[in-house]
Amino acid sequence: MKRLLEPTEDVVVNLLRLANTKLPADIGWALEAAAGWETGEIARTQLGAIMENVKKAEHLGIPMCQDTGIPVFYVRGRFDSSIASKIAEGVRKATASIPLRPNTVDPLTRENQGSNLGDGMPVIHYIPADVDYTEITVLPKGAGSENMTRLAMLNPADGVEGVRRFVIDSVLDAGGRPCPPSIVGVGIGGTSDRCVEMAKEALLAPLDSDNPDPVLAKMEEDLFSALNSSGLGPMGLGGSTTVLGVRIRKACCHTASLPVAVNIGCWATRRASARITSDGVEYSQGAVL
Ligand code: SF4
Repeated sequence: MKRLLEPTEDVVVNLLRLANTKLPADIGWALEAAAGWETGEIARTQLGAIMENVKKAEHLGIPMCQDTGIPVFYVRGRFDSSIASKIAEGVRKATASIPLRPNTVDPLTRENQGSNLGDGMPVIHYIPADVDYTEITVLPKGAGSENMTRLAMLNPADGVEGVRRFVIDSVLDAGGRPCPPSIVGVGIGGTSDRCVEMAKEALLAPLDSDNPDPVLAKMEEDLFSALNSSGLGPMGLGGSTTVLGVRIRKACCHTASLPVAVNIGCWATRRASARITSDGVEYSQGAVL
């Protein structure tokens, strides 16, 4: 849907509203599919409650979870340095108008400015590209799932089996805390910082898209089956739906390193993108970086 050109601040408000009130279609389909195959009574009740919650939030135009998260932005394409202040202003407006829970505090004093802003906030990743548009993507990340983030600098000799073990252990150790069924983002390789970034970026890949790397696609499938055989289930209360998907990104790394990172997205994995061109703004929820 194209609209007349609107100020970037308002685009950010619209993005945050869309992300928080409407679950991306691919995640909704995955929940419906899970409700179809799940046999456990408690698990089916949990999935039903989640889907009812999602429907009500969209119908009423209110956030689907009380933890509206910390908004993480990705800006791709053409942009200038003013985009940071425009995004920050959009976050301030969105916090007041949607409204969003003011989650952002100083890490030591715990002082809350009430705007989801403050030192280093919002988090913005910049990806310059030679295209004729600017694309802003937001991934609001709640603490329940973000607190379960894990990084391991494995020994290269640990190999694929070491990576597999680390991902499974990370998800099972997290238990019900990240509000499963989850989407598991995995980063393999790079440096420690890049590896953690890739794990979060992986959550932006829609569940109905194929990983273009056949080796990673196979790993995603294997981990999906192994995790759903674990019995953890929706909200950690038992069942065969622990994860809705596993998405993996990789980068080359030092010959003496094998970094692996896990970033878990809860059932409310929220994302939205706005592509801004000279014709207007197009909103979507099928983000891929
Ligand atoms: S983990 Fe997700 S669903 Fe659970 S409280 Fe946090 S944002 Fe909400």
